[in-house]
Amino acid sequence: MTLQGKIALVTGSTSGIGHGIAVQLAKAGASIVLNGFADEAEVKRLIAEMESNHGVKCMYQGADISDAKSVETMINTIVTSWGRLDILVNNAGIQFVSPTDEFPIDQWNKIININLSGVFYGTKYALPSMKKNKFGRIVNIASAHGLVASKGKAAYVAAKHGVVGLTKVVGLENARDGITCNAICPGWVLTPLVQKQIDDLRTKENLSEDAAREKLLGEKQPNMRFATPQEIGDMTVYLCSDAAQNVTGTTLSIDGGWTAQ
Ligand code: NAD
Repeated sequence: MTLQGKIALVTGSTSGIGHGIAVQLAKAGASIVLNGFADEAEVKRLIAEMESNHGVKCMYQGADISDAKSVETMINTIVTSWGRLDILVNNAGIQFVSPTDEFPIDQWNKIININLSGVFYGTKYALPSMKKNKFGRIVNIASAHGLVASKGKAAYVAAKHGVVGLTKVVGLENARDGITCNAICPGWVLTPLVQKQIDDLRTKENLSEDAAREKLLGEKQPNMRFATPQEIGDMTVYLCSDAAQNVTGTTLSIDGGWTAQ
């Protein structure tokens, strides 16, 4: 198990890609801190599943990652309870689609606060423990939209390009401290965030579920296949392993050819 004994926080791990990443990190032996929105019963279920299926320690911290103080408290609690933080996966994110001239200001602020500032807060407060231990792995879940644009996604594309820039800075600043920082850029992954876009397309164009999925993939993803949360998790495990100690400040795409076009 490549990550035996490591302590990992995955933001937004109560759903979708973040949950897939947490599972793969646990399979590799890491203790897991779950974060994201969920009710009490769901949190209990997720912790029990992680502990019994993978035999690792698991706790839940419900911080809203768009709130700097909550993120600081969350990371202080992890370091106080478990001694340190080795791996931070900045994954939590949201989407909103609208032409730029109609884009609601509150939706712009929400996306920037969660998808970009949240990554900065997590990184800022995780670095001291990583620097102290001369080991750290920061993995930012950016997007193909961190590298190229699509219409209607002004805030999301701006935030994800920002995440890619921040990744480079953090990689550079910590290159001699045993800390790497990289961004994974997924194309379409079938999660609740993308299902909402499929549902909107179905309604707007009166399409069947299959036709809407085909249309969504056909516009962007040449291999016509959704990636899975598990695949994003496997790439995260690689970036956290010793094999990736010379990989830093860069992006890894997992997008079925989207950004090759
Ligand atoms: P999802 O909606 O399934 O999960 C999002 C998670 O983030 C949930 O656990 C939610 O509770 C949490 N979250 C939202 N706001 C939060 C906040 N303020 N504080 C703490 N947690 C919060 O979405 P997903 O598709 O799994 O997306 C995860 C990440 O992957 C996002 O950053 C997204 O931009 C990125 N991404 C997704 C795709 C895709 O196709 N699904 C593609 C590229 C990038």
